[in-house]
Amino acid sequence: MPELPEVETVTRGLNFAIKNLIVKKVQVNRYDLRIKVSNKITSVLNNLKVIKVKRRAKYGIIDLENEYSIVFHLGMSGRIVIDRNDEISLNKHDHIAIDFYKKNSKKFGVRFLFRDPRRFGFFNIYKRNSKVYENIFQFIGPEPLDNNFSIKKFFNKINKRHSNIKSILLNQNIIAGLGNIYVCEALFLARISPKAMGSSLSYNKIKKLHGKIKEVLLKAIEEGGTSIQDHKNVSGEIGYFQYYLSVYNREKEECNNCTSIIIRFKQNGRSTYYCQKCQK
Ligand SMILES: [Zn+2]
Repeated sequence: MPELPEVETVTRGLNFAIKNLIVKKVQVNRYDLRIKVSNKITSVLNNLKVIKVKRRAKYGIIDLENEYSIVFHLGMSGRIVIDRNDEISLNKHDHIAIDFYKKNSKKFGVRFLFRDPRRFGFFNIYKRNSKVYENIFQFIGPEPLDNNFSIKKFFNKINKRHSNIKSILLNQNIIAGLGNIYVCEALFLARISPKAMGSSLSYNKIKKLHGKIKEVLLKAIEEGGTSIQDHKNVSGEIGYFQYYLSVYNREKEECNNCTSIIIRFKQNGRSTYYCQKCQK
C-alpha cells in the first residue's frame, strides 16, 4: 500500500509532467471506484489548466483553474501512468484517462491514466471551496515533514494514549501519511518496541522518534519509495528504498544493529516487524 514517500514520488513526477498543461479530453471507463466518480468530471475539466500537483497525507491533489481540484488515493494497488504516446490503448484496469495538451497549441502533451486493478483507490473532482472537499482533509494530522510538526504537540498526543505506539502512529489523525512500512522502520531506528504503550514513552524517546520519522521518510523519498508490491513512479520506474529496510519484510533475517533475528508478529491485524533486543 502506497505511503507518504510513494505518493510523494508520484505527485512530484506528475507535477513535472502535467503542470501548466490543458485538459482536452476525459474518458471514464468505470465510475464505481471506492468513491463514485462524479458524472460531471468529463464536462467540467475540459480546457482547464493544471496549476500544480501536490500531496496531503496519502492523497494526491491536482489543482486546476476555476477552483477545481482532482483528489486521488492509490488504495492498495493504484498507479498513475503518464504516457507520451497518444495512440496507447487502454488497459482494462485504466479507469480514467485524461489527455493533456500544451498551452496555446493543439499539440498533444501527455496521456494520464489512473490504473487500479483492485479498485480500493479513488479519483474524483471537487470545488476547492466546498465543504465536501474540506471534509476529506478535516481530521488529518500534521505532515511529518512540515515545520509545524512539533515535538511537543506530538509528545502530548502520544502521551495521552493507552494503546501501543504502532497503532498510534498508523492513526492518520495523529500523524499523516505513515503506514506499516515506515512505522516499523521509524520504531526500529528510534529503538522503541512496537508494543510500548504511548503513555509509557518519555519525552526524549518521542523526540528521537520524531527525528527518525523525518529521517526515514526523507531517505525513502530520495530513493523513489519502496517497491515491494506495485509501486512505480509515473514513468513506470520502481523505487529503491526496499534495499534500505532495517526490519520491514525481513522476518528471520539478522538485525543489522545487533545480529539478533528479526521477528514478525500480528498486531491489530497487521504484520509488525521488529528486533526484540534493540527495541524496548
Ligand atoms: Zn537488533
